[in-house]
Amino acid sequence: LLPTAELQARDAAHHMHPFTHGAELGKKGARIITSADGCWLTDSDGNRILDAMAGLWCVNIGYGRQELVDAAARQMQELPFYNTFFQTTHVPVIELAERLAQLAPGDLNHVFFASSGSEANDTNLRMVRTYWEMKGQPSKKAIISRWNAYHGSSVGSGSLGGMKGMHAQGGMPIPDIHHIDQPNWWSEGGDMTPEEFGIERAQQLEAKIKELGADNVAAFIAEPVQGAGGVIVPPDSYWPEIQRICDKYDILLIADEVICGFGRTGNWFGSQTMNIKPHIMTIAKGLSSGYLPIGGSIVCDEVAEVIGSGEFNHGYTYSGHPVACAVALENLRLLEEEQIIDTVRTETAPYLKEKFESLTDHPMVGEAKIVGMMGSIALTPDKATRAAFASEAGTVGYICRERCFSNNLIMRHVGDRMIISPPLVISKGEIDTLIERALLSLDEAMAEVEKQGLM
Ligand code: PLP
Repeated sequence: LLPTAELQARDAAHHMHPFTHGAELGKKGARIITSADGCWLTDSDGNRILDAMAGLWCVNIGYGRQELVDAAARQMQELPFYNTFFQTTHVPVIELAERLAQLAPGDLNHVFFASSGSEANDTNLRMVRTYWEMKGQPSKKAIISRWNAYHGSSVGSGSLGGMKGMHAQGGMPIPDIHHIDQPNWWSEGGDMTPEEFGIERAQQLEAKIKELGADNVAAFIAEPVQGAGGVIVPPDSYWPEIQRICDKYDILLIADEVICGFGRTGNWFGSQTMNIKPHIMTIAKGLSSGYLPIGGSIVCDEVAEVIGSGEFNHGYTYSGHPVACAVALENLRLLEEEQIIDTVRTETAPYLKEKFESLTDHPMVGEAKIVGMMGSIALTPDKATRAAFASEAGTVGYICRERCFSNNLIMRHVGDRMIISPPLVISKGEIDTLIERALLSLDEAMAEVEKQGLM
């Protein structure tokens, strides 16, 4: 391997990184990951790094599974590509659609494929509006989403998302997308109990529907547990109220399962954990454990029937790519055969929960929230008042993330929350290592925060 510094310089010279400050990259250089197995990454200096983010929340089955490599190689030899436009199909896409219909709850029986979560949410945006148009109710166009939601980076999915920093660049959101607040009790709950706050936040949806007129609203989209917005686990009162409101006003419910799907919350889908009944689920990431790009929309009978009554003028060259489908099928087979999701639900997630929640013993950690294998801690200078740091939001989170990084632990920060989403195959021993390294990093970060006078 070439020297790290040389690779970094070449990377900074020619590679434009997503969500990365170009000048910072030039100064510091990117960490170069060269190989991985299980929950562990190896970098170009030979460090072994515990990946508590499963890449970008996607390597659910862990790194280095030869079965997925073999599935890809077999399919590449047999049929590397054929499209699914214009009444053609192939065996891997048939089998994957059928398998997903079996796994998905209720009458979510039909799959429209894409290569990513962004593309799949673009499909959803057009599909829900087309559904109402085909039903003769074209005024039902507005889509309601949540601030701080992340639904992708294309113009459509970025507009559905509620990231203000993204909206500030390049002309988003597109018209007829509306946002309500997220159920983040720690930061925004004030004097309310979490349960009162959950109802209050859900009822913002009802208020927004009344403001726009139910005849003008097509759908509400949300992640069962908001991921990139900071792993915001909603109060128990939240989802039942959202479901009641969607049912009452005849609003389609889209559950974005891109992070929550395929075991992340301890069930196949986050909708099962949160007990919600979506009309459409967005899937990607864990579908193939990130080994190849694939995503899609799992659609209920009623919506599929209406959409299928005409021609939906929409599709991607790689919708149902045979190699990606073959890898996804093998991934689903292994998740099931090795009972990986059952083990998460009954053994490793309860173990992780206990350890993770004990992080609140640390003086700088306020709440610790975790569902299955996705969790976050809120950093605070004052637990009693749930105060934010005086510094710009994210300053302390960044310090903490950097300390984790130097202790060979990958955690992410969103503002001043620290997040984990490890591979589902993480063992109890690896969970212990994760918590030890997180505590060490928190101690070091706190010393730095105190030194800088931010506490
Ligand atoms: N939806 C959610 C909930 C996500 O977390 C993401 C990505 O992080 C996306 C959609 C976009 O998926 P992709 O990056 O595959 O386009």
